[in-house]
Amino acid sequence: MIYFDSAASTSPSQDVLDLFVKSNVNQFANPAAAHALGRDAGRELEECRKAVLSAFHVDKTHSLAFLSGATEANNLAIKGVAFSYQNRGKKLLFSASEHPSVTEPMRYLASAFGFEAIELPVDALGRVEPDTLRAYMDKNVILVSIMGVNNETGAINDLKALAKIVHEYPKAYFHSDLTQAVGKIEVPYSDIDLFSFSAHKLHGLKESGALVYKSSIRFVPLAHGGGQERGFRSGTVSLALNQCLCLAVQNSLRNPKADEAKVRPLFDALYEGLQNEPVTINSYREGSPYVLNFSLNVHRASVIMEALSQKGIYVSTTSACSTRSDHPSSTLLAMGKDMETSSNSIRVSFSTDNTLEEVHRFLEVLHQLLKEVHPR
Ligand code: PMP
Repeated sequence: MIYFDSAASTSPSQDVLDLFVKSNVNQFANPAAAHALGRDAGRELEECRKAVLSAFHVDKTHSLAFLSGATEANNLAIKGVAFSYQNRGKKLLFSASEHPSVTEPMRYLASAFGFEAIELPVDALGRVEPDTLRAYMDKNVILVSIMGVNNETGAINDLKALAKIVHEYPKAYFHSDLTQAVGKIEVPYSDIDLFSFSAHKLHGLKESGALVYKSSIRFVPLAHGGGQERGFRSGTVSLALNQCLCLAVQNSLRNPKADEAKVRPLFDALYEGLQNEPVTINSYREGSPYVLNFSLNVHRASVIMEALSQKGIYVSTTSACSTRSDHPSSTLLAMGKDMETSSNSIRVSFSTDNTLEEVHRFLEVLHQLLKEVHPR
């Protein structure tokens, strides 16, 4: 098997799996329970929260809510801030290439609650130019959401420059979806008011993620109930899941440069190898080496993906969240690609578990398929 779909989900590491079992066996009590076992679990949970914040070097300035993943984190950040701070202004900005867990809450706030949710155009490589953001900013903006690394193409935004522009407006917060960025690129974590991520993209477990936010920010909660997670997200908290999230974050932030040095040659070899094929590469060389997106010029991407899958090679067409619909990729459209190119792309995404041999094998099999399979 060759697994080239790590942007959709990574395999959990063995230490994470071991910790999940150990914690569930030894510390299964409800962390909110008043007895000694519960208090122990509650203390561990707080240790774990501090450890994640320390790993990002934001323990003095930021807090963290343990959630079910980046989707929930993006929803809490966007709806929670919008509802809390709507008396300051009702303008929200987001980039045209955001994940649906950002674009959909934005559109919902606009259609159901009268917010003005404005899409920021991206350049041909899929990035928001700082000057573009500057042109859209004004005193009514309360939230700007721009991702770190695009999940379909690996395009990288200059978060430091973008955050600086937002912070020229004291009433506006800067949120970034860092799901594909944590442990993969250098991120100015302390410059970002709120950031979201999922553990399963970091060799952690699914249904686990977090929103890290400046401690002064208050949200209108998404789930009301017992008041866990500072009242922002009620529901019994899983110590085991969050300890695993902590370990996955610590592992991913231990040596990102060394990880990148392992993955970059894979990206480069694939990029070079694809030059001889009837494809159009949509990613750029200086983007994240973990994601390479290309469109097929004469074949149907879904047919080639399925043929690769039959041979035990797993890639995706656009992102896992949109593969089951026939819509063109909004990210590629926003980059100015035509309808055909935007509807016919394949995403290869790596982890440090992949090897150069796998890339060579992938190129061989792809070459063969593009010769054998009928053009569309
Ligand atoms: N944002 C980005 C950039 C993603 O890649 C994903 C996962 N496809 C998400 C948000 C949502 O993550 P989850 O499904 O774990 O909530």
